Amino acid sequence: QAKAAGRNTQRFFDPDMQAAVSMRAALEVDLRRGLNQRELLLYCQPVVDSSGKLLGAEALVRWNHPRRGLVLPGEFIPLAEQTGLILPLGQWVLEAACAQLVQWSRSALTRPFFLSVNVSVRQFRQPDFVTQVLGALQASGANPERLRFELTESLLLTDVEDSIARMEQLRRHGVGFSMDDFGTGYSSLSYLKRLPLDQLKIDQGFVRDLQTDPNDAAIVRTILALARSLDLSVVAEGVETPGQFEFLQRHGCQAFQGYLFARPMPAGMLERALLPAP
Ligand code: C2E
Ligand code: MG
Ligand code: MG
Ligand code: MG
Repeated sequence: QAKAAGRNTQRFFDPDMQAAVSMRAALEVDLRRGLNQRELLLYCQPVVDSSGKLLGAEALVRWNHPRRGLVLPGEFIPLAEQTGLILPLGQWVLEAACAQLVQWSRSALTRPFFLSVNVSVRQFRQPDFVTQVLGALQASGANPERLRFELTESLLLTDVEDSIARMEQLRRHGVGFSMDDFGTGYSSLSYLKRLPLDQLKIDQGFVRDLQTDPNDAAIVRTILALARSLDLSVVAEGVETPGQFEFLQRHGCQAFQGYLFARPMPAGMLERALLPAP
């Protein structure tokens, strides 16, 4: 019957497409359940300076699925964004990050350092985003100066005026802002100058081949020079080899994140790694 109705109708019954739709629906139910069952975990990846000293960490969410094991954000963040589940998920990450900051401040840690939290566009544009962040900070007692948000270019540019207003409100309390995956979007210099940012994070896509691809090397050098002239700090993401590390240092990069130094780990492990040796 589908065949008789013509090509377009026939495509509607494409078994592959239908399988994809029902898989998506199942994943959504599963993620909703996982959120309620507290199956999310807060992982952290260290950010270090050129001597390997810890400067801070990035919070990276994981889903500890009862059957599938540890699921990476690439597999559920896009769905969470489409379904709106990113709102409770983002709230959970924010509260977990604040709790972690408080725990670190109470432990034997001597050096103060920051924790960066990734934010999705839907979460950032919530009318009460600023209120929710300030509420989480106050409820936990976390120091706003230790909290930093990572926003992407495309998020910031969806509504520049609104982005600036929200950032300014949180900056008044000491919260910092990084532009994530820098270089992959379309920021013009004029926007970059207007946005109240503290930091650029060089996308790992440029770091990966910087020793073999002259274009990537040029882009990385340009980002570092640009950041210097705008007085922004820079974190290079995805640093995996001593050669990449050496190149980045030689061109003035001062903060590094990547497997060469440490992989993302449960937040509690980072704390143990930091405690002075007995
Ligand atoms: P991102 O914010 O750009 O995070 C960096 C990603 O690079 C992480 O992937 C990290 O594990 C990975 N990475 C770090 N060092 C290296 C390296 O040396 N080599 C390679 N190949 N990869 C490295 P992950 O944890 O899978 O997260 C993927 C993305 O998911 C993140 O990209 C971020 O956009 C998103 N994400 C993670 N956690 C959250 C969250 O709590 N909220 C939101 N909205 N998004 C999140
Ligand atoms: Mg990030
Ligand atoms: Mg990134
Ligand atoms: Mg990325």
